[in-house]
Amino acid sequence: MADQKLPTRAEDFSEWYNQLVLKAELADYAPVRGCMIVRPYGWALWENIQQALDRRFKATGHVNAAFPLLIPRSFIEKEQSHVAGFSPELAVVTVGGGEKLEEPLVIRPTSETIIGHAYAKWIQSYRDLPVLINQWNSVVRWELRTKLFLRTLEFFWQEGHTAHATLEEAEAETRQMLDIYTDFAVNEAAVPVIPGRKSASERFAGADQTYSIEAMMGDGKALQSGTSHNLGQNFAKAFGIRYLDREGALQFCWTTSWGLSTRFIGAIIMVHGDDQGLILPPRLAPTQVVFVPIYKTDEEKAQVLDAARKASAALLAAGIRVRTDERDGVSPGFKFNDWEMRGVPLRIEIGPKDVAKGSVVLARRDKPGREGKSFVPQEGLAAAVVKTLEEIQKALLERARAFRDANTREPKNYDEFKAAVETGFALAFWCGSAACEARIKEETKATMRCIPLEQSGGKGTCILCGQAAAEKGVFGRAY
Ligand SMILES: [Zn+2]
Repeated sequence: MADQKLPTRAEDFSEWYNQLVLKAELADYAPVRGCMIVRPYGWALWENIQQALDRRFKATGHVNAAFPLLIPRSFIEKEQSHVAGFSPELAVVTVGGGEKLEEPLVIRPTSETIIGHAYAKWIQSYRDLPVLINQWNSVVRWELRTKLFLRTLEFFWQEGHTAHATLEEAEAETRQMLDIYTDFAVNEAAVPVIPGRKSASERFAGADQTYSIEAMMGDGKALQSGTSHNLGQNFAKAFGIRYLDREGALQFCWTTSWGLSTRFIGAIIMVHGDDQGLILPPRLAPTQVVFVPIYKTDEEKAQVLDAARKASAALLAAGIRVRTDERDGVSPGFKFNDWEMRGVPLRIEIGPKDVAKGSVVLARRDKPGREGKSFVPQEGLAAAVVKTLEEIQKALLERARAFRDANTREPKNYDEFKAAVETGFALAFWCGSAACEARIKEETKATMRCIPLEQSGGKGTCILCGQAAAEKGVFGRAY
């Protein structure tokens, strides 16, 4: 078992994360520096994330499509702040089929430009609006410092792109998608997030307004976990996305974009994991329940496997994602550790005594040891399992929320602020000036994560300069 052990989170959180990703077989390093191979277990988790989001997108009228990977370089240059923001990260194709290309092609870092080009063709009249399209794809950004899932050259995500007749509709869409991300994070991933507005310096390149959901990781640092942008008319003007309104006048559209990526897997790992490995929220776990049969003799084996298979079939029929670990030649103890590393929410142990008694042992991943164990009859097992999975889902959210709240302070002065961002978040009044924001970042390494949509009200003074301030921001060191 020695090679299975992770460094503890307390001794080296970063290395704990790196080794967990590899040992839980979520992802692996690729031959190209900074790229990532997502292994089947990691991809199964991503598929469950996709389904939970896609369901919500479609319920709000969005449809999926696919736009090309290659974008003419001139497209990227059409929107001024977009090109300024993305140029340093572009991967450019200059040769195709052995010939130097007349115009270099960019591998999409995001798709506003190519989609803007298509929308300019497709949208003629107010009757064509709104256009509500999403795509599931991967994008490439040439990052220098990389970490599996959190920051890789190529990553997987969804990018939604919508076009509207008015600013109000575009803003409503931007906020609706932020709400959907919040609902997904809280109710599917058990990750409590703070939805809020970004400061100007943290906005997406080309956006008038950027909103994000921010989560606190197990080391107290922040992870931006999803973003939604109101692009105003910036891309509409750059690409000529126009429509004839009801009066027959030509108007520019108002567009939005929004995305959530495989980075979110990093959030799940760092919010819920412990020193034994991953802990997955039941709603997203590829395997929700694993049966571990326990036996010594061949006769016991036959009995126990038979009972495990029957019980497993009953759970499967109840819609539970279940598997039975029938591996020979590895001990039950090894199997326990193995599934704990992979974060399976519930383990069911079944041995000869359990068969005789018609019961099984449930062991919760979120509560190691005796505390998380219970004896349950095989009769009616599916209902007991469904209930336990719901309890685990709820307990994970509560634990994560309690941790975040315990590590979020409302400092009264700048010294308290500096101490707060050493270990977690500081919720503090900020005057809104970029100068204060920059100085705070320089002196404390903490950035303004977002201005929470929910404000406790009242006015105060900026934590740094003492000027009047109307809103509080969440500050923290971020991934
Ligand atoms: Zn200030």
